[in-house]
Amino acid sequence: MTLVLPEKTRPIAGDLRRLIGSEKVRDDAPALTAYAVDASIYKIVPKAIILAESEEDIQRVVDYAVRVGVPLTPRAAGTNLTGSAIGSGIILDVSRLNRILEINREEQWARVQPGIVLAELNKQLARDEVMFGPDPSSGDMCKLGGMLANNSAGPHTLRYGSVKDNVHALRVYLQTGHWLDARPYALDDPRLNEIQRLHPPVGNILTIVGAHGEMIRSKRPTVSKNSCGYNLFGLLDGLERGVFDLPKLFVGSEGTLGVISEATIRLVPRPKATTTALIHFRNLDEVGDAVFKLLSLSPSALEVMDGNTLNLIGRDQHHIPADAEATLIAEFDETAEQGRPRDYGHDIRLLCRAFRLSADPVLAFRQEQREQIWKARKALYPTLYRYGNGKKPINYVDDVVVHAERIGELVRYLEEFFKAQRVPVAVFGHIGNGNAHIVPLLNVNDKEDFARMVESYHAIHEAVLTKFGGSICGEHGDGRVRAEYVRRMFGDELYGLFKTVKQSFDPAGVLNPGVKISETPFTEYIDYTRLSKSCATCGKCNSVCPVYDVFQSEDMSSRGWFEIVTAKDYSYLNSKRVVEACLNCKSCRTICPADVDVSDLILKRRAEHPNFMAGLVFKFQARQSLFESVLKVLARAQWLWDRPSIRALIEYVTRPVMRRIAATARIPRDMVLPKLAEKHLPERYPELVGNRRTAEATVAYFHGCAAKYFDDGVGDAVISVLRQQGIEPALPPQRCSGTPIQTYGHVDLMKDGARVNLASFEPYETIVTGCASCTLMLKDYPKLFAGDPEEEAAKRLAKKVKHVTEMSSPSKPPSKFDTVPTRPCKVTYHSSCHLRAAGVTRAPRQVLSQLPGMEFVDMQDADRCAGGAGTYMLKDYDTSQKIFDRKRRAIEESGADVVATSCPACMIQLKNGLRGKVAVKHVAELMSESYQANRVSGEGTPPAS
Ligand SMILES: Cc1cc2nc3c(=O)[nH]c(=O)nc-3n(C[C@H](O)[C@H](O)[C@H](O)COP(=O)(O)OP(=O)(O)OC[C@H]3O[C@@H](n4cnc5c(N)ncnc54)[C@H](O)[C@@H]3O)c2cc1C
Ligand code: SF4
Ligand code: SF4
Repeated sequence: MTLVLPEKTRPIAGDLRRLIGSEKVRDDAPALTAYAVDASIYKIVPKAIILAESEEDIQRVVDYAVRVGVPLTPRAAGTNLTGSAIGSGIILDVSRLNRILEINREEQWARVQPGIVLAELNKQLARDEVMFGPDPSSGDMCKLGGMLANNSAGPHTLRYGSVKDNVHALRVYLQTGHWLDARPYALDDPRLNEIQRLHPPVGNILTIVGAHGEMIRSKRPTVSKNSCGYNLFGLLDGLERGVFDLPKLFVGSEGTLGVISEATIRLVPRPKATTTALIHFRNLDEVGDAVFKLLSLSPSALEVMDGNTLNLIGRDQHHIPADAEATLIAEFDETAEQGRPRDYGHDIRLLCRAFRLSADPVLAFRQEQREQIWKARKALYPTLYRYGNGKKPINYVDDVVVHAERIGELVRYLEEFFKAQRVPVAVFGHIGNGNAHIVPLLNVNDKEDFARMVESYHAIHEAVLTKFGGSICGEHGDGRVRAEYVRRMFGDELYGLFKTVKQSFDPAGVLNPGVKISETPFTEYIDYTRLSKSCATCGKCNSVCPVYDVFQSEDMSSRGWFEIVTAKDYSYLNSKRVVEACLNCKSCRTICPADVDVSDLILKRRAEHPNFMAGLVFKFQARQSLFESVLKVLARAQWLWDRPSIRALIEYVTRPVMRRIAATARIPRDMVLPKLAEKHLPERYPELVGNRRTAEATVAYFHGCAAKYFDDGVGDAVISVLRQQGIEPALPPQRCSGTPIQTYGHVDLMKDGARVNLASFEPYETIVTGCASCTLMLKDYPKLFAGDPEEEAAKRLAKKVKHVTEMSSPSKPPSKFDTVPTRPCKVTYHSSCHLRAAGVTRAPRQVLSQLPGMEFVDMQDADRCAGGAGTYMLKDYDTSQKIFDRKRRAIEESGADVVATSCPACMIQLKNGLRGKVAVKHVAELMSESYQANRVSGEGTPPAS
């Protein structure tokens, strides 16, 4: 097929803007850079990106691409590993089409748009006790559109099947210029005639499959999973039942036949209980037999990681015995229909007695424990990016399927093959289905490694087909990486039919050219530059990036920003729009399995262009006595200037100054500002002020700016909590910890303040904080001063930092207070991003769950950014409020009377967003109130974590 390439001179983006409106079209340098990659090894720079918001957008863009002859690539989350969501023409991103349109609980189906993230979909379905069965390990970030187009599967395919088994109908836009209602039709259904009239390609395929039934049947892979080629086998099965099963054609077609705008998916009941087992084998050869036996217990998932994989991810870190040659994860779901609960733990232990294990099987029943077991497995591929020596995990032979009982043999074959090549390799996957993910670590920029990659590509695929009688592709799709092998897998005749299918549906050759049906060698378009960088482009960070959550556009996302700020041709002027949009919330850093800190890279770029106006403000702040005098005057006059009419005037008058901070910056008239303190915290506690380190006074309180200048109750509460624990904290001289200053690029200024803090806090053994950002920043001082003379002092300080919720008093057990209700109310927790990044996640929850008279409820999205991010509310109020919308919903759904948090800055955003509907408190305030109440009732000291 001749591929139609875009004319270089055609102003594609301009045409598209006129067609669907400029807000939905991107073609600036950062957007093209961000959309040039997906999670594969490839890079292709597109001409324009469309952020589709309606079926009409899809229709107009497809019609345009066909008319003009521009390649068009549909895209969802861009987490495929095969290069199927990148292309040289238009990228049609469906992420903004992300709603559940209808749920039918009784009949267990839902109508869903393609841009919804799998994890979000299942979160929403959980309210009805149902879920979508297929569960790729990328479920936190991948979207339904990509899952449908790839026929994705995952660990639980064993029980629930892959996507093709879970789709009732699809709505697909075709080159015929009409929408196809792709559902199974009985062959005598009169609607089928009408469909064939509107969509001649559908009729063609019906004829072809009918005519070549025998040949298709003879080429059918005999293994349990296959996503290679078009699924003519599924169509043939349907015909044998008297049904034209159209969804089977489009599921797994990788955007090469049409664009999906909606799917009706089958839902399954959520398991009532689940048992997860982690089993370490001393001998790989026993794994095959164990799998056979475990299958008799009907597991819902059965996963393997080979010994090399365990070495590569770090045995110590994951508590894996040194002598384990392979590890299995087995999971068993119980549904309501099963009746009496089964003791899987007993069965597993019994079954395992027959094998030489490195340790007793680990059994997990609670969700938190089970998630811990899955964590390493799910993040395996990007975790391998931490491996050194310039070698990276390369996906090019990553998705083979053999008969399940031969998986041990396959693993041995692979280990020997790669040993001979002297290439480290990780082999893991869905062993119950015989589906192995093979990820060698190579430096593709090295000539010899490159040659090894090409050799192993052919040798392993060949062995899988001939020696093992398997498939080259179980679930990831053919994309660009396996396209050249599809003919080899099925032979000329069936490949010829695939080409006819493609030609019928895509006569213009514009739908995702180069993907699935292509003879282009897999080595074309490899992104050699990126494969030497630290980011695996897995997209996990996008799933937590609050900016991506709002914009649903790769150029406004953590992964996109990594690409943009590390691009060779990066320029601040070109990229200012996106580089300034990051909140510095650090959620990306907390979640990244490859240990990449995108926010830090962005801050470094900002530091090359420090914001002038913000610099003036911070310099003024550094002149503490003058700055504080002004604040006190403002505090005394707040009753006046905080009136609506005056706030409107302030917004107007300050606008020109604020614009010099950011185009979107303002002091919004309707924002609830924190109350300024007329007496600053140290003035309220003169007895604690100064460097008062003695043998008894070993604890200092780093209050930070908010607790010092705002009348928010946080500083008083922290001091009160410490005093109740018998600690008289010191308040040494201190400057801003540095977070806001760093955010605006003023590293030198920030370091000046940090040096004051290093000197001031050096004498103390413990430094207590009440602010999430201060906690993180103080812990990050060693990074800030890396290579500087202050590095050692910074390390010493970092080790002493404790958030107030981590201050424990083991001698006074919490149980003492269980019977002392202070006030019966429901409290939930908003987990501040910087505290999570500082590693403090359990302590605040533990404290809250032990407070007498309070019922702690963990809310959904507790770990998502609320959008305040220090001064971000002023920098871009509208985006900050859009980010908050999600948090508001979560708080409301939790039914809590109080939302607690660990950060004064988050409190400002929460109070502004909730407007008194739900009370907002710092955890320390609740602890302090609880102390007070208990003192009154004479019970002593309340809980600490
Ligand atoms: C760490 C990691 C783990 C993974 N684990 C698994 C796993 O366990 N199982 C598995 O199957 N995969 C896995 N994958 C691969 C990938 O995540 C899945 O295939 C996923 O379903 C792709 O979804 P996506 O939204 O990212 O799609 P994208 O990458 O955006 O697109 C994938 C394909 O779908 C097409 N497409 C997208 N939307 C549409 C639409 N509306 N209409 C038509 N075509 C469309 C695209 O053109 C492309 O061909 C993993 C990837 C990573 C990075
Ligand atoms: S920064 Fe980390 S989480 Fe984000 S795409 Fe890269 S490897 Fe994945
Ligand atoms: S710091 Fe927050 S806003 Fe910035 S890229 Fe990371 S997740 Fe996104």
